[in-house]
Amino acid sequence: MKIISDRAPSIVYWLDNKLYFNLTNDCTNDCYFCIRKFKHGISGFNLRLATEPQSHEIIKELQKVALIKHWSEFVFCGFGEPTMRLDTLLEISRWLNQNHLKPIRINTNGHALLLHPSRDVTAELKVAGIDKLSVSLNAHNATIYNEVCRPSFENAFEKILQFIGQARGSNLTVEITAVNIPEIRIKEIEKMARDFEIGFRVRPYLPCVW
Ligand code: SF4
Repeated sequence: MKIISDRAPSIVYWLDNKLYFNLTNDCTNDCYFCIRKFKHGISGFNLRLATEPQSHEIIKELQKVALIKHWSEFVFCGFGEPTMRLDTLLEISRWLNQNHLKPIRINTNGHALLLHPSRDVTAELKVAGIDKLSVSLNAHNATIYNEVCRPSFENAFEKILQFIGQARGSNLTVEITAVNIPEIRIKEIEKMARDFEIGFRVRPYLPCVW
């Protein structure tokens, strides 16, 4: 049996009934707990891309698997930050909508306002048919965020909160997520989600055990 790193990189992959899109391996964070640091992929799929896929390549891969089962959700989430490829993401989302493949979610680090300062990103996501955002906050304040996520932007934490507010204003369903790492105060992040009147989900921390 082939080990994951010997397999061809996957643009489209799945876990249970959810179909995922791996648009990029690039990210504006460098979280110390990032799975990319100690794994080549997930669930037998190699997520280390040789090159970033173009829209037509993603749609081609999607067409191969779109009807093999009843997918409960379509999720932009791979080994990088999907909103770094905003135009491709919007194009794929429009294609999914046209083909009635719903609901559509983005797992994001929430840096979209910093990545695309001149665009109304949340409105564009809504128009393209995105239904839900899962925003990884992973800290209860900016100091801890900078410590654990090591963003390439200075004011990332504040901008993530602004992004969440704008997404709510654009009528997107939003949830905050946090990886259960020892540095963070889960209850405080949960309260932030309550204040935004959005959902909150804790994700397990899977430390690397060599
Ligand atoms: S935001 Fe996600 S992809 Fe980016 S470094 Fe952190 S865990 Fe990895």
